[in-house]
Amino acid sequence: MMERKEALYEGKAKIIYATNHPDEYLVYYKDDATAGNGAKRGTIADKGVMNNKMTAFFFDLLAKEGIAHHYISMPSDREMIVKKLTIIPLEVIIRNVAAGSLAQRLGLEEGVPMPFPVIEYCYKNDDLGDPMLNRYHIRAMKIATDAELDEIERMSLKINDVLTKFLKTKKVDLIDFKLEFGKDAQGNIILADEISPDNCRFWDSDTKEKLDKDRFRRDLGNVEDAYKEMLHRLTGEA
Ligand code: ADP
Ligand code: UDP
Repeated sequence: MMERKEALYEGKAKIIYATNHPDEYLVYYKDDATAGNGAKRGTIADKGVMNNKMTAFFFDLLAKEGIAHHYISMPSDREMIVKKLTIIPLEVIIRNVAAGSLAQRLGLEEGVPMPFPVIEYCYKNDDLGDPMLNRYHIRAMKIATDAELDEIERMSLKINDVLTKFLKTKKVDLIDFKLEFGKDAQGNIILADEISPDNCRFWDSDTKEKLDKDRFRRDLGNVEDAYKEMLHRLTGEA
């Protein structure tokens, strides 16, 4: 039996617990929502349940396409058992369409397609405000080796491919998203964290309606409904 032990880390959206299994953590998904590196705070009713289920769904989908990920099992609606990893402190952002900070930075209108997927890195460091990094910074800071980064990019582009194609069948455009990777005891690169409307931009393919956390970030209303709609489109769950 899996036992939940002490909390090791409480983040903005999840709590990581030790378990009686030395190689596994329990992730508890909260309803807390933040934006702008914690500047805006709130809760989204049942977000934890919905994000847990959507993440499990996406990880199952990616496993079928050969992507190694940390998800092991879902003991309850808000809890996920995962492989314990050493997280590489990078936010890997993949962009298919200009939106958010990219649109601002480059003076592009939101919704302009990129000619190919654009990968960006940010240093996972709240005190520094998650600054953007390039490959030279990552090498100089010894955050990852070039070989590890090559593997992260290969996996990220494959994940983008799988998710984009699948979501198209659900009438959802994958605009951009953020991934995190970790290393297991053998040094293998493994997909970690979550894949949900908290860290992806999902737009309805026809209406371009936002079905993600931008509804919270930008006070667009119907935040819970957007998460519910995404869960419904993915799993059929009402
Ligand atoms: P944040 O730290 O940004 O506030 P969360 O509230 O989502 O984010 O906290 C979850 C934390 O757990 C993140 O720091 C994430 O990097 C980390 N994490 C995710 N998956 C794993 C894993 N398999 N092993 C160890 N840590 C993980
Ligand atoms: N993102 C994330 N965590 C972050 C920053 C970004 O999950 O700390 C995701 C975000 O949901 C979006 C993509 O990464 O899908 C690109 O975000 P962007 O850089 O445009 O940031 P924002 O507009 O949120 O400042």
